Amino acid sequence: MSSDARVLVIDDDPDVSLLTRLQLENAGYDVVEAASAAEGLSRALDTAPDVVLLDWMLPDGDGIGLLAELRASAATADVPVIMVTARSHAGDQRAAWEAGVVDYLTKPFDGRDLLRCVRDAVADPASSRQEARRREALERLSGREVDTDRLSAVVEHASDAIVTTSLDGTVLTWNRAAETLCGYRADEVVGRPVSVLAPPGRHDPLAEALERVAAGVTVPHFETVRRRKDGTDISVSVSVSPIRDEHGHITAASTIARDITERKAEESLHRGLLEAAPDAMVVVDDTGTIHLVNAQTEALFGYERDELVGQAVEILVPEEHRGAHPGHRRGYFIEPRTRPMGQDLELTARRRDGSVFPVEISLSSIETERGRLVSAAIRDVSERKAAEARFRGLVDAAPDAMVIVDPHGRIELVNAQADAMFGYERGELVGRPVEVLVPPRFREQHPGHRRTYNEQARVRPMGAGLELYGLRKDGSEFPVEISLSPLQTGDSVSISAAIRDVSVRKRAEAVQTAAFEREREASRRLREVDRLRSDFLSTVSHELRTPLTAIRGFADLLVEHWDATEGEQRRALVQRIAGAGLRLDRLIEDLLDFTRLERGQLGIELGARPVADLVEEALRHVAVSLERHEVEVDLEPSLVALVDEAAIARVFVNLLTNAAKFSPAGSTISIRAVATDDRIAVSVIDRGSGIPEEEQDRIFERFYRAQGGTARRPGTGVGLAIVKEFTEAQGGEVHLRSTVGEGSEFTIRLRPART
Ligand code: ADP
Repeated sequence: MSSDARVLVIDDDPDVSLLTRLQLENAGYDVVEAASAAEGLSRALDTAPDVVLLDWMLPDGDGIGLLAELRASAATADVPVIMVTARSHAGDQRAAWEAGVVDYLTKPFDGRDLLRCVRDAVADPASSRQEARRREALERLSGREVDTDRLSAVVEHASDAIVTTSLDGTVLTWNRAAETLCGYRADEVVGRPVSVLAPPGRHDPLAEALERVAAGVTVPHFETVRRRKDGTDISVSVSVSPIRDEHGHITAASTIARDITERKAEESLHRGLLEAAPDAMVVVDDTGTIHLVNAQTEALFGYERDELVGQAVEILVPEEHRGAHPGHRRGYFIEPRTRPMGQDLELTARRRDGSVFPVEISLSSIETERGRLVSAAIRDVSERKAAEARFRGLVDAAPDAMVIVDPHGRIELVNAQADAMFGYERGELVGRPVEVLVPPRFREQHPGHRRTYNEQARVRPMGAGLELYGLRKDGSEFPVEISLSPLQTGDSVSISAAIRDVSVRKRAEAVQTAAFEREREASRRLREVDRLRSDFLSTVSHELRTPLTAIRGFADLLVEHWDATEGEQRRALVQRIAGAGLRLDRLIEDLLDFTRLERGQLGIELGARPVADLVEEALRHVAVSLERHEVEVDLEPSLVALVDEAAIARVFVNLLTNAAKFSPAGSTISIRAVATDDRIAVSVIDRGSGIPEEEQDRIFERFYRAQGGTARRPGTGVGLAIVKEFTEAQGGEVHLRSTVGEGSEFTIRLRPART
């Protein structure tokens, strides 16, 4: 054994530090102690240790950070570091190994393990073996995550884009399909809000889906548009679902997206082809004889091609018009220009089976070597006529007000609902400019908007994202929603507007939004409480390990070295064991209090108790914690309060332990009790750190622990919740007066017992 090897122990817990020192000294090592990261660093530089034992959680920083600093300085770059910590989570261990520790010990540890680790590190600082250990540990740790690895390979190679985001929408992971789909590489989006993919200026359904997911809902397929890196838009079908951690808490969201742009394009091509279906074509000479027909003609009229060619064209004309037809024909041959036939007439045609149907015919002439021929493009408009009739019916039956406007902005047609909605007599609006329905403040821009629409007419809501208003005849305004669609009539396009009065809905929406906000706030609070609760549980398990380490270690030490230890030192060690036992006791009490709070069963039974007895009892209970403080008691004589003895004891114990914990050794803690008009006021006053104004309310919440300098003191955040809830359950109140840097005064106002 290299008895002159020096070990630097960096741990802020005095018990653990002392225990480690004794164990190492007994084995012949020279030990240096440090209680903070800063002290650890400077001791490492000026004592040149052979090994460093490092606690993870230090009052001024964490062990991993300190390790990096040690590595960065030439003098300490190669010193082997052993992490000694209560953190046993695989992720923590991995982080430590990756940061370059040579060993990892979890508290409570066995003295023999500690010595073995130190001996190995001293014996082989050149660390080829350490390197092997580290690799082995990392492999072992990653073994635990083999499923996760396989899973992530599946995700990575999936053909759908799979993106995970935090609940506030920050991208956490981004697979290859997402790269292909959106054109961003993972390193360009991870850490950024997923909303960079939302085309600007519109409502983003994905953002809304994320909110619902945070509340626990899985949002199945919906379609939305995303903007790619190159600025083009794609249509995607998306589903979003919550990701939960091992406790079942929702921590993130997973979004799966599939490109449906092609499907959309195909659909519209299809529609386009349908709309562009060629007409039936019939070519006739100046005698009216049919020369040529196409397949559509056969289909439309029910003749074979051969039955038509060579026949007089009148075969296709209904009997009642046949007589007049040759005259018309001749007329066209005299002035042959491309034009629709029979302007303003309702044209009809006759099928082979004698049935008659409405048509539209467009004529043009062709010069050939056989002379002039006329070609007629014949379109069956029965569908359209029927549709028109249906349309009229529809317009009048529509739930919305319908206004149809011609290309010049004149109203062509309105339904009864529109007249009623805008307050006009039936028929009064037709022929007037549509701007009469628009409030004056929007009137000027309106014709411009109309022209823009005409240039790119498609079905869409009007004024996306804008609040629209209609103007009644009497000058009053009302909120509306308008959906526009182009209406092809002949060569020109009219615009049909479906208008809905949304005043009622707007009011309902406002109410709903408020309700939604409240719900969201409530769910945020629940999440916060949940987070605090799991923090509490991990704090408790961490806090349990430290005194256990001390108890086990000191006891082992005494057993092994009983004879070699002097009487005085033995007593000191046993006292340490007792102290650690007390710390465990406190934690168990906190845990019990915690369960009582959670169950909401405080089991209060009130009785008359002299305040002096209560104070004395509490002081006896916390005597050890108050050892290093002056205690000053000033009670008005013969005060008797109406309290539950067990509950009030927890209140005082918590206040006194906090006072000791958050004020410097040697300072005074005062306990005062006075009778006020209708209450007995008992105050616990310390001259400690004080509590910032903005935290004074929050510290009474369950599990809440102040964020500032006191955050690293031992504790679970339950104490003051107990103080408040127990006091109130006894019909009392808690008041706090505190100034940062001067101290705090907690006052409990209790009900007096009437005698
Ligand atoms: P714990 O002490 O276990 O953290 P408590 O509920 O007792 O939980 O206290 C909550 C927080 O209030 C503490 O973390 C501390 O920051 C603050 N606090 C409580 N008492 C005092 C005090 N006397 N002086 C300063 N800060 C205090």
